[in-house]
Amino acid sequence: MSNRTLSLDDRTYEYLLSVSVDETDLLRELRAETAGDKFSVMQISPEQGQFMALLVKLTGAKRVLEIGTFTGYSSICIASALPDDGELVCCDDSDEWTSMARKYWKKAGLQDKIKLRLQAASITLQQLLDDSLAGTFDFIFVDADKQNYPLYYEQSLRLLRRGGLLAVDNTLWSGSVADPENMQPGTRAIRRFNEMVKNDNRVTKSLVPIGDGLTLIVKDFE
Ligand code: CA
Repeated sequence: MSNRTLSLDDRTYEYLLSVSVDETDLLRELRAETAGDKFSVMQISPEQGQFMALLVKLTGAKRVLEIGTFTGYSSICIASALPDDGELVCCDDSDEWTSMARKYWKKAGLQDKIKLRLQAASITLQQLLDDSLAGTFDFIFVDADKQNYPLYYEQSLRLLRRGGLLAVDNTLWSGSVADPENMQPGTRAIRRFNEMVKNDNRVTKSLVPIGDGLTLIVKDFE
């Protein structure tokens, strides 16, 4: 028994996957195709995809925003868990990666549920705010360039409805955030983001050590 989060050895990790993850053949195929990309480590893990689908259902989310789509794994997990009238807006600036995502959205029959905005996410978020969509999103997933995390945090909080959920990925950054000698720009940005969340009394938060660290934040204000 342990009173802190267990570190998983390979055997325990495989066991966890075998008893709790329903990865579809399509998602497995997408994982295999993405594995050929040198940035494949950016794809979320299957157990995290499962967890995100659970979060979508748990919150009853209908309008979801994803910041950082890559080749589409998380967007498929999210969109598949949405009700028929649900909508997912995806932000990414890579035509190459999102062309793979689009191919799989079509295969999954999700192309009408997902709207891609192909440009810098900070611009899209500002456009959504300018279109008076503040307070209209139920769930936002942030998994994009780490240096903009503090900016995405502020913009996302405005776009979320009160009681909405913000999930931010890579907040443990392979443990580098806890290494005071690591002063890489990405590490410093995530540290800054983690401090912002810690000191923000307007939200309820929990850093869940799944994948590379996933911080869950509920917006407690209007
Ligand atoms: Ca990530």
